[in-house]
Amino acid sequence: MLTDNVFKKIVDGQIPTTLLHDDDLVLAFKDIHPQAKIHILIIPKKEIRTHADLTAEDLPIIARMHQVAQKLANDFGLKPGYRLVINCDRGGGQTVPHLHMHLLGGRSFGWPPG
Ligand code: 5GP
Repeated sequence: MLTDNVFKKIVDGQIPTTLLHDDDLVLAFKDIHPQAKIHILIIPKKEIRTHADLTAEDLPIIARMHQVAQKLANDFGLKPGYRLVINCDRGGGQTVPHLHMHLLGGRSFGWPPG
């Protein structure tokens, strides 16, 4: 086991969470502190600490995360657009050491990000 973090506990079913998506590779659920009207987290079931730890064998996982993001964006009616964010490690603002993609929508977003 890499770390005992909250997303690992969600994957293991130790923290009851309403899932928006659940398949063999990934889970999706709402962020507990939403930063937009729609704020969903898409995480791999495999323990991957951060984006920098991905390897070629993880490509199906990354592909699935993007497929799920696109499907949920459609399901939640994010027609005007949405933002996908992966914070990598402490310098990138990552606070939970289990790879995750943020799907944000329902408002407009500025650039550059903070
Ligand atoms: P990061 O800053 O690591 O990119 O994003 C971690 C995200 O996880 C944050 O947006 C935070 O609100 C969310 N989060 C932290 N703990 C929990 C939790 O127990 N449940 C849910 N649903 N989201 C969480």
